[in-house]
Amino acid sequence: MGNCAWCHKKTNLPAVFAAEAPLMEWMEKRIDAWCDKNNITREDLWGGESDWNKINLSPEMEMELLAYDELVASVSKQIICKECLIEDDKIYKKYYLNFDNDSEITFTIDDIK
Ligand SMILES: [Zn+2]
Repeated sequence: MGNCAWCHKKTNLPAVFAAEAPLMEWMEKRIDAWCDKNNITREDLWGGESDWNKINLSPEMEMELLAYDELVASVSKQIICKECLIEDDKIYKKYYLNFDNDSEITFTIDDIK
């Protein structure tokens, strides 16, 4: 038995490679809302190729994004319970899989131009 690194509940799942913190839906929503408000795509703000010099990011938002990125991008071997893994997967699919599809479509359109 170990303790889940994210919610600290006891679990008997083995250690897996997982991020420092789970994806947070409120933060994902914040990213989407910020993009909406500033009329940019999620890809522009949060994509692998995003260039923050080109967008008018406030220092506060930049700090929040950097902190979030550090949490969800630093991966190490740790114990995560089943509930957390399912929840994380759900948020990932909701916010990142569509996102990848979108960027592929954008890429194809840009290619044709
Ligand atoms: Zn957990």
